[in-house]
Amino acid sequence: MAEWPPPDESLSGTMPVVETVRKGTAAAPGIAIGRIYLVDRRRLKVPKRHLQEDEIESEVERFRRALDVSDRQLERVKEKIEARFDDHYNIIAAHQLILHDEHLVDETIRNIREKGINAEWALRKTVEHIRGVFDSIEDDYFRERRSDVEFVGERVLRNLLGRDVALTPPPDAIVVAYDLSPADTANFYRAAVAGLATDAGGNTSHTAIIARAHEIPAVVGLEDITALVGNGDLVIVDGTSGVVILNPSPETVALYRERARLEAAQGVALLSNVELPAVSQDDVHIGLVANIDHLDEIRGALGYGAEGIGLFRTEYLFMGADQPPDEQAHYEHACAVVEALGGRPVTFRTVDLGADKMARFLTDHQEVNPALGLRSIRLCLTREVRPLFVQQLRGLLRAGATGNVRIMFPMISGVQELSLALEVLDEVREGLRREGTPFGEEVKVGIMIEMPSAAMVADHLARRVDFFSIGTNDLIQYTLAVDRVNEHVAYLYEPLHPALLRLIDMVVRAAAAEGTAVSLCGEMAGDAAVAPVLLGLGLTELSMNAVAIPQVKQVIRNSRVSELRELAQDALKMASAPEIKEAVWRYLERART
Ligand code: PEP
Ligand code: MG
Repeated sequence: MAEWPPPDESLSGTMPVVETVRKGTAAAPGIAIGRIYLVDRRRLKVPKRHLQEDEIESEVERFRRALDVSDRQLERVKEKIEARFDDHYNIIAAHQLILHDEHLVDETIRNIREKGINAEWALRKTVEHIRGVFDSIEDDYFRERRSDVEFVGERVLRNLLGRDVALTPPPDAIVVAYDLSPADTANFYRAAVAGLATDAGGNTSHTAIIARAHEIPAVVGLEDITALVGNGDLVIVDGTSGVVILNPSPETVALYRERARLEAAQGVALLSNVELPAVSQDDVHIGLVANIDHLDEIRGALGYGAEGIGLFRTEYLFMGADQPPDEQAHYEHACAVVEALGGRPVTFRTVDLGADKMARFLTDHQEVNPALGLRSIRLCLTREVRPLFVQQLRGLLRAGATGNVRIMFPMISGVQELSLALEVLDEVREGLRREGTPFGEEVKVGIMIEMPSAAMVADHLARRVDFFSIGTNDLIQYTLAVDRVNEHVAYLYEPLHPALLRLIDMVVRAAAAEGTAVSLCGEMAGDAAVAPVLLGLGLTELSMNAVAIPQVKQVIRNSRVSELRELAQDALKMASAPEIKEAVWRYLERART
């Protein structure tokens, strides 16, 4: 592809239109082709003025009025959000809280009064100060939340300056911005925005979350896309692969139109298998269940054909909260999950905090190497955190009396650690019995296998639990020594590495020998080009992001498990991932025809 920027006009005569490809983070799948609506939010200049003594109180008043106006605007934004987009609604509600937060309001007023400066300048100083505090937080999730304060600050600033606050892109536009606030995007689905591309943001940024919820193809984290484009330029946003193509040639546009048509047709065709069973050509049923983080994802997961929840990550109950949830909160939450599932099974993983998932009440817990540190079950077994763990176990066991609940411990390294966790569980059960509190005596207990050490002693572990769930996201990280959140080593993060397949094989065989159930819940379970190997290794249940279920089901329905066993046996003998990929690809081609 040609370079950007194009050669200097004075040297090249007329400025050529150059096709340019930029890679970012794929935030919401789908392909959009259209004209750019450039949102120029960053260039808001703040006037700076020292006040006369007698102007100070009226300036404070002016600031308060701008807060009120901003509050009313956000209230109207909330009214526009459809009920099914709860997350979006809650984010706007959180922005209203920030608007009244003492750190923002009091500090700005103090700046006006003590420094004798105008409201815009005082507000900018406050927002910069708060941003500095956020910048020092190690956890990505919370660091990204500083954008909430910036969005709120910018709205108040626009109101102080009498500038327009609403974005109304023309229909079918592709919105390109440095970042977009949740209030900005509230208008978007109404105006039928075709796609989004932003400089800032990662997978957990609001733009990404909201784009996925509204099914708007989006690429985020492009770094400098706003500097490269002009209003009205033609652009392709490929939210499936995370690529943006500026000024595409007619051939590229034709290619992407065809891809978009294929993706749409595939999506519709695949969704038609939602009601069909996940049974192979040789009659083997494979359980397809979903990984979720929130209660409100259940309806969507069932819509994609999930037979239950194979991994409920409970960290999110802790991460958003100032205080950890208590027993009753766990109980009520788990009962609501059971009810929403209408008899289908759910596996709750006990809280897996630490590393990339930090809770606010644990922020003083800093480590040099958090992925190898005091995280997950290790943290739960410490004297400080153990009471929270006990409350969770009590809540989950009690909810187990109301439905099909399983409990799973994360990050178990071996038998000793498992025994410690089981001891706590036994004590909790004993306590409930003593008090006469009803709970699920039959609740099955399992562990995640996500460390090489656990895989290697899976035979011992299998005797002590009801089920295993292989967590390959971490198992890959620890086996290949590749930090799963470090983009510089992402090229080494390889699910089809033969070392990993050998470990999975070891775990499945150890489980089978003891009659222990085994499933796999890492992201690779939802990759239709990897799942055949997993089935061949003997897995009969896969837990994945629900949107991947129709595609994996399609592969299952086209395959013969007896042939996949041969494929997996061959793969186990191969030396490298490319060889294995080639063999899988050949199999899939044959199965399709
Ligand atoms: C895993 O490690 O594979 C897993 C499913 O858990 P998480 O992604 O939450 O670490
Ligand atoms: Mg994990």
